[in-house]
Amino acid sequence: MRHCTAWGLAYSALLVSCGLDGDFPGPTYETEHLRILTSFEDPLCRGDLLELEGFIDSVQTTLGIEMSEPVDVYLRDEFSDTRKLECGGRGACYRASMHSVFTTPSVIHHELTHAITASAGFPSAFLIEGIAMAMDKNVVLFGGVELTSQLSLTTKKVSYIAAGHFTRWLLDTYGAAKWRELYSHGSGKTRHFERVYGKKFASLQEEYFESAPWIYPPLYHYEVPWMEENTLGWRENFVFDCSSSDTFGRIGIIVVLRTLEISTPGMYDVWTSADGVSLSRDIDRPIDTIEEAERAAYGDAPISSSLTPIGGIAYVPGGTLRTLELDAGIYTVYVGDIDRDAEQALVTILPHRGGLNHIPEPEGP
Ligand SMILES: [Zn+2]
Repeated sequence: MRHCTAWGLAYSALLVSCGLDGDFPGPTYETEHLRILTSFEDPLCRGDLLELEGFIDSVQTTLGIEMSEPVDVYLRDEFSDTRKLECGGRGACYRASMHSVFTTPSVIHHELTHAITASAGFPSAFLIEGIAMAMDKNVVLFGGVELTSQLSLTTKKVSYIAAGHFTRWLLDTYGAAKWRELYSHGSGKTRHFERVYGKKFASLQEEYFESAPWIYPPLYHYEVPWMEENTLGWRENFVFDCSSSDTFGRIGIIVVLRTLEISTPGMYDVWTSADGVSLSRDIDRPIDTIEEAERAAYGDAPISSSLTPIGGIAYVPGGTLRTLELDAGIYTVYVGDIDRDAEQALVTILPHRGGLNHIPEPEGP
């Protein structure tokens, strides 16, 4: 028996049906820019749809372009055997001929950026993948390679990281209008960069190497409520309600998000009655140097850096007290319920009291 939940969203999104034939028998969702068909029965939650809509708005505003029409998104389970069928062996893709994205939840933002920038042109793989990486919801890391040789490489060979970081620098330094000119009128050869930016590609690259930060923060951040705080620390009863904007749905799991700020670095005791709680550290400003990036890799939930290129996430299983070392900063807290059967769960995060690090050093002889 298929279980479906229907709700209307403030901006007129609507869960339209439960049960399409074929490979996408799960619920279908329509929002302003998206029609999402799913291969799984567990519903996406309101947070998923609002976050994706917010992401599309952010990319369109940043780049000054608009998607020609709503895009069809065929969303599969992350581990689906058939996920590469429509994408020529790749795990996900945007197919311009159908204006459709075939993807899994983990790379949906990247593929949606392709759907948006398709209205601006079809240049080289370096520029196409560069903008998708530059807009992604993850941090944008320095690629560390010489770029001239990258410009004409194919999608399979180009360095996505290098292309993304350079594209982000171009946007930040010279603005979206020049990026649009480059994207729409050139195949991405050095002479196209020279025409748009008015200098030799070698000079542009030299300027980039000298001035770009090591890591850019994500351009888009979905806001969730602050976790409830008291004089001792943080303590909140989380409600798993799929119709809430702070709640996200995946296959077999529902997750509620909160933000909190640690102002004193140190040890913190984390506990939950949910199935588990995770903490990841956010980054809201560029990190200029590799030394600063390495310092930011401190603790159990470091930011993404050269040392932890995909970010560190600290996970605490339900019912166990774990002490985490946390640097000062803003964190996102993820509280999860596996099987999606719980209604609520408690989470506490308190400064660590006592324990080994508080036992005084023994007196000398
Ligand atoms: Zn791509």
